[in-house]
Amino acid sequence: MRAYQEQPGSPADLHDQPYILCEDLFKIYKQEDLEVVALRGLDLKVRRGELMAIVGASGSGKTTLLNILAGLDTPSAGRASVGGRNLLTMTPADMVQYRRRQVGFVWQQTGRNVLAYLTALQNVELPMILDGFEPGAARSRGRTLLEAVGLGDRLDSRPDRLSGGEQQRVAIAIALANDPPLLLADEPTGELDSQTASEIFGAFRSLNQDFDVTIVVVTHDPAIANQVDRVVAIRDGRISTESFRRVSFRGREAYVYHEEYAVVDASGRLQIPKEYLDRLDVKERARLRMERDHVEIYPEEIEIDQGPDS
Ligand code: ADP
Ligand code: MG
Repeated sequence: MRAYQEQPGSPADLHDQPYILCEDLFKIYKQEDLEVVALRGLDLKVRRGELMAIVGASGSGKTTLLNILAGLDTPSAGRASVGGRNLLTMTPADMVQYRRRQVGFVWQQTGRNVLAYLTALQNVELPMILDGFEPGAARSRGRTLLEAVGLGDRLDSRPDRLSGGEQQRVAIAIALANDPPLLLADEPTGELDSQTASEIFGAFRSLNQDFDVTIVVVTHDPAIANQVDRVVAIRDGRISTESFRRVSFRGREAYVYHEEYAVVDASGRLQIPKEYLDRLDVKERARLRMERDHVEIYPEEIEIDQGPDS
């Protein structure tokens, strides 16, 4: 695993401001006298047009992060902006507009995404009609979106005639009805088998390319790494690792592989993977030794020579 830190202020950074920017983001839930810190200093950047996934154990803060990005919840401290809009200082009226125009959201529970008494097409038309679209225009865009998710032949089916995977594809079309630049999905394949889940990710990929929409998907499924540009892992309310999908060519054959990095935050903190800590039996402290081009980490009780560079 490599350590990875973007250079702030590098040319790429200046010309290509991230679409989503979270810095030192905190969310604290207060219940009576108990405080739960769901996000603790989370840093995340997402490029415009990126298709990325967030993975992490249950309770690590994935839904909290997504709800904040969706404008459904407000952060306690830190910075969070989407498309240049500051999510901490938005007025309630701006927030309503933001949710309506700037983000589409897909929930894990299919039943939460679709209305049972409307056909697939009517479900997709509804948000557009509510937003003042001409019925003809709503119908035509509804068709386009359902075709894009592979449901061109299911326009007039009601949800109870559709499989779970088809219902989630309707949900994705609904989320994109008002043409938001950002699509957020919280474990959209959590209730589906892996084959169906893979089809859903196929739909995300083609929408990402054809509709130029930035997509952030929270998932439990480790197999999705092959289908997205980047996977970030969240642990205890912070991003711990990032892994990038790379393609290399040997002759005519393409090989897909992943490069995993530990994320280094602005204060120089990085999370050592739990498996490493367990293997080395590192608990509260570790010894570090600077070598010419790398740093070695040892359990506390091991005596080490400080290297030539120290
Ligand atoms: P994930 O989606 O990764 O499973 P969540 O973002 O739902 O994690 O939760 C992160 C932490 O915040 C958990 O400890 C959870 O119990 C807590 N939490 C989430 N929502 C609330 C809430 N509304 N009130 C109190 N605690 C919450
Ligand atoms: Mg969750």
